[in-house]
Amino acid sequence: MNDMFEKRNCSQQDRLIDRSNRHLNYLRVSITDRCNLNCTYCLPFSHQPRQSHHDILRYEEILHLIRIFRDLGISKIRITGGEPLVRKGIFPFLSRLNKISGIDDLSMTTNGMLLQDHLDKIKSAGIRRLNISLDSLNPKNYHRITGHDVFQKVWAGILAAEKMGFHPIKINVVALRGMNDHELTDMARLSLSHPFHIRFIEYMPIGDSALQLEKPLFTPEIQERISSLGALYPVERGKMDGPARRFRFKNAKGEIGFISPISHHFCQTCNRLRLTASGFLRTCLLSDHQTDLKTPLRSGFSDQQMADVILDAIRRKPTSHDLNSKQSAQVASSMSAIGG
Ligand code: SAM
Repeated sequence: MNDMFEKRNCSQQDRLIDRSNRHLNYLRVSITDRCNLNCTYCLPFSHQPRQSHHDILRYEEILHLIRIFRDLGISKIRITGGEPLVRKGIFPFLSRLNKISGIDDLSMTTNGMLLQDHLDKIKSAGIRRLNISLDSLNPKNYHRITGHDVFQKVWAGILAAEKMGFHPIKINVVALRGMNDHELTDMARLSLSHPFHIRFIEYMPIGDSALQLEKPLFTPEIQERISSLGALYPVERGKMDGPARRFRFKNAKGEIGFISPISHHFCQTCNRLRLTASGFLRTCLLSDHQTDLKTPLRSGFSDQQMADVILDAIRRKPTSHDLNSKQSAQVASSMSAIGG
């Protein structure tokens, strides 16, 4: 044991606790860096895909690592990408993941493009909680932002998921001045008629796709803009809640959430780790520091040795990021590579 990290013993009750006394129980797992959309603010200009099959962790390897993380205290997993639904073999993988004891919360982030075709399989695999990215309700604007004319397909997928009882369905909206800021009220209005959690996310200027937005759009302004729909009432936080500050309009079926990594950073409560598709552990989204887990795993490290590599990385988890509204592209990696 060392002074920065406290680990009692390898039982389900353990929690990873870092030097800032943050309990790390949440792992985001990117299973591919490939995507079927080209969101202007996300994909690198240098374009994808860049990883060969050999570079990407096999499903077996991901499951192996997840069991090690679980033994260290991870109980919440989100599958992401790239676009997770484009990777072959995802449904049997999700089923196996869902059977790992000690993972209490399993969810997936998707752009929704392939949702409609696969909802049955996603449900059978045991996923009930979905985050779906939707930056516009206007088909033309959606096309402009994502590079693909598929709004209707995505929207149909979202409605079908609602009908099939997926809950909660969180709709991720990255707020971009000059691109979708005229639609923020329409997006928020969706929470009145659907049980969706509409989550407005501040744009993070990272990767070589970083947009040079003249003036960033932060949560207070988004809140002000959607206030025309009525007062927002705070929603009590749940045990497994992430960084979103949650609200609800009176009599609304759904919720509004604000994720404010820049204007109101939540580093002091950050409970996340990220595993990239190529097997690197990232302890902070907004830092380029990463630890190679694939090489030691493939060279035959024991689970205990792998756990030591992970614990060593966690010891270096930054206390906070220093990205602020005046900086841009401080982080070289793109979101499509890290997984958001
Ligand atoms: N393909 C899936 C999707 O679109 O949801 C999962 C991966 S995507 C990288 C995960 C989330 O990151 C999406 O909601 C996306 O909008 C968000 N995202 C990507 N780049 C971002 C940025 N620069 N700032 C804030 N959010 C970003």
